[in-house]
Amino acid sequence: MWKKILLDTLFPQFCLNCQKEGNIICQDCLSSIEISEFNYCPFCKTPKRVFDKGTCPVHRKMKLSGLFSATSYKNLLVKKLISRFKYQPFLKNLSLPLTSLIIAHFILSENKLIFQNKENSLLAPIPLSKSRERWRGFNQATLLANELSRFLKIPLLNNNLIKIKKTQPQVELKREQREENIKGAFKLKNPQKVRGKRIFLVDDVFTTGSTMEECARVLKKAGGKEVWGIVVAREPLSD
Ligand SMILES: [Zn+2]
Ligand SMILES: [Zn+2]
Repeated sequence: MWKKILLDTLFPQFCLNCQKEGNIICQDCLSSIEISEFNYCPFCKTPKRVFDKGTCPVHRKMKLSGLFSATSYKNLLVKKLISRFKYQPFLKNLSLPLTSLIIAHFILSENKLIFQNKENSLLAPIPLSKSRERWRGFNQATLLANELSRFLKIPLLNNNLIKIKKTQPQVELKREQREENIKGAFKLKNPQKVRGKRIFLVDDVFTTGSTMEECARVLKKAGGKEVWGIVVAREPLSD
């Protein structure tokens, strides 16, 4: 406790949004972020609400079973928090407020899946390539998955799903190129661990879903039963 008091005195923190002294993001600003109460098909370009099944009938053959996204990447504060989290100077302790957005979504959307059958579930961060992780010093998805694991009491599958191919940043590519770019990029070091499990892939932002779909393919091939995505924010859908 004294350590926290000392640190707060020596290095006071100010809200990234309103500059109020106290936390890295104050409660007022954090709760101003609109949380999604619903779930949408991860693969439809126009928002398509889904219910117990995570995808729309058209996309039911995809490997990814569905996506839980807390908020929209269109929200400027969300964008700012995520970019301060993963770009220099890295504010790693943003993992907690960002995770709280995900938890808020689970509660508001009355998500049952995440609170059931935990003994057969796993949380798996979307891996970065070795060189990328070395550059950043950490994987932002792992930090989020760690916080989620602590809160939800779902075990973490860490350092098993790995990225073996260096890929071009997905944002620079068109949809078809993205799929080509990411193909064969992931591998499981210990495939037995995912057999029969429900796996929740964790990442910060969901764009086209090519990365998650490719990870889901690898996990299902190894016998994973279901693969769902969990992200803080989703790129805006065309509306
Ligand atoms: Zn504030
Ligand atoms: Zn769809």
